[in-house]
Amino acid sequence: MSNNILVTGGAGYIGAITAWELVRAGYSVVALDNLSKGHREALPPDIPFVEGDIGDPKVVEEVLNVHKVGQVIHFAAFSLVGESVAQPWIYFENNLVKGTRFIETCVRNGVKNFVLSSTAAVYGDPVQVPIPETHPLRPKNPYGFSKLGLENVLESYHQTHGLNVAFLRYFNAAGADATGEIGEDHDPETHLIPIIFQTALKKREKVFVFGGDYDTPDGTAIRDYIHVTDLARAHIAVLEGMEKGLSHHAYNLGIGRGYSVLEVIREAQEVCGHEIPYEVAGRRAGDPPVLVADNRRFLDTFDWRPAYDSLRAILRTAWQWHKNYADGYAGGGDDAV
Ligand code: UDP
Repeated sequence: MSNNILVTGGAGYIGAITAWELVRAGYSVVALDNLSKGHREALPPDIPFVEGDIGDPKVVEEVLNVHKVGQVIHFAAFSLVGESVAQPWIYFENNLVKGTRFIETCVRNGVKNFVLSSTAAVYGDPVQVPIPETHPLRPKNPYGFSKLGLENVLESYHQTHGLNVAFLRYFNAAGADATGEIGEDHDPETHLIPIIFQTALKKREKVFVFGGDYDTPDGTAIRDYIHVTDLARAHIAVLEGMEKGLSHHAYNLGIGRGYSVLEVIREAQEVCGHEIPYEVAGRRAGDPPVLVADNRRFLDTFDWRPAYDSLRAILRTAWQWHKNYADGYAGGGDDAV
């Protein structure tokens, strides 16, 4: 069996940083991305890159065979809660329908290990915090349903075809590569931390805080922010663990500590030394009040510890990236002419 690793959505935020971490760890990687959201510049320049769609079996078959792929990390997906509430079908089509076709193509072409980029959105409103993997699975938006659906599809291929599977349920990915050269660049940007730093850089007038009336200490929503490089390294740990036979399929990936939106704004002000204007606005549809991981299953199973164990450390890397690339990849780096 070949150990070459296919990273789908490799030009996206988490996919690209995972590709870089795999290359740095000495793995042989090929990236597939349709560039609907991703950035070719984010990928390591010297790995094979195929521009194509996960829902196109011909393209996928060719990538798997030409590059002798034995393992897959599947990131390619739409991932915005608000957008999924407004347009459920594109989430079901892109994430679940195309994702299922992709898995089937992988299985028919000899892939043995499959790691799914999943999400805490599979849990819905928590009935227990921190949230363990055994928490009821009741998504409250189409994005969460689409990922839960794909987890179930994989579980089924595990049962019927012996595919080794793992679902990594991320809490909130944040931060940037330590080089300050690879980071978050979405269009439109909807994520809290990039929006905060764009405001610090005067690209926006203020941050709108979505909901000030949640049942939390300061009334704003609480999330568990995990550094994107720690997430990337967790995928590598899982692929390595698959060779030894994993004990579970689902794993939470978070730091295990939550921060409210206002706490994130305050910490970000400390990091960048700028006042960040904000205004409390209405809640965003589909948002649970609190998402904090019980990450003990992952910590107990793998030789992995978060290298960035405070929000401030995470924010520092994000600030560096946003200062370097105030207009994203398209604007070039700070030393670009
Ligand atoms: N949020 C906010 N204002 C924004 C963007 C996000 O108050 O402009 C809140 C959002 O409602 C959630 C938290 O910040 O409670 C993190 O949102 P983000 O979109 O970054 O990640 P998500 O939790 O949706 O994956």
